[in-house]
Amino acid sequence: MRVINRDTGEIISECPTGIRAFNDAGQVVRLSCNQWKCPYCSHVLAWRWSCRVRYGIDLWNLDTFHWTLTLPGEIYSSNFAFKVLKSAWDNLRKQCQRKLPYFHYASFVEIHPHRSGIAHLHVVTMHWCPGRIKDFAHHAGFGYEATETTISGMRAALYVAKYTSKQGQGMPRRFRRVRLSQSWPKLPKTVPEMRVFPPLPRESIWDYLVRVSMETDIAPNVLRERWMDYTQDYNLSSEEGDD
Ligand SMILES: [Zn+2]
Repeated sequence: MRVINRDTGEIISECPTGIRAFNDAGQVVRLSCNQWKCPYCSHVLAWRWSCRVRYGIDLWNLDTFHWTLTLPGEIYSSNFAFKVLKSAWDNLRKQCQRKLPYFHYASFVEIHPHRSGIAHLHVVTMHWCPGRIKDFAHHAGFGYEATETTISGMRAALYVAKYTSKQGQGMPRRFRRVRLSQSWPKLPKTVPEMRVFPPLPRESIWDYLVRVSMETDIAPNVLRERWMDYTQDYNLSSEEGDD
């Protein structure tokens, strides 16, 4: 369902969780939950990470390589696979940091569709592997199936967006789908187009309306009406509306 701001006609967020807030004009707008488990927000998060990977590659303007690392064939449980993946990556990363003068990387997980959720690891980096990649990978705890190719910034960004947005049912909570070296440039900060005032945790609806009213100079009962209308129009939970 597309959610459009009834006053401005602007699409705010299609996140199905229904998190909403007043903006500085006293209009109710829909916010994103920013969770990987959300079918809408996972795509937005994946897209943001892919932008950042692309940004680093474009900024450095160096040859860029793509390593694909798999797990040994004898791993059948996806839960165990995530543990192995994390420790194997730690080992590999440390080996690279020892052998290279600097190691810029963006690594991201792909949930492999043909191996019952066993994850793959992709690494985008500005270096050739400092050794034969199959041996290097195996030594760190990955399987022998490892490849290395050159890659363009556009394709790297595409892979990040494609792989990270896949749902990982067996993925442990708080598992990081994307890991970047500290050196990887951050995207420039954007100025938000409008201020929003999200409700605070455990804030009652009345306290919230009063707080927004002081910020916007709109009477609390007017705000309350807008909040209730919005809740009704979009069939959202009215819990917050029943003070
Ligand atoms: Zn969401």
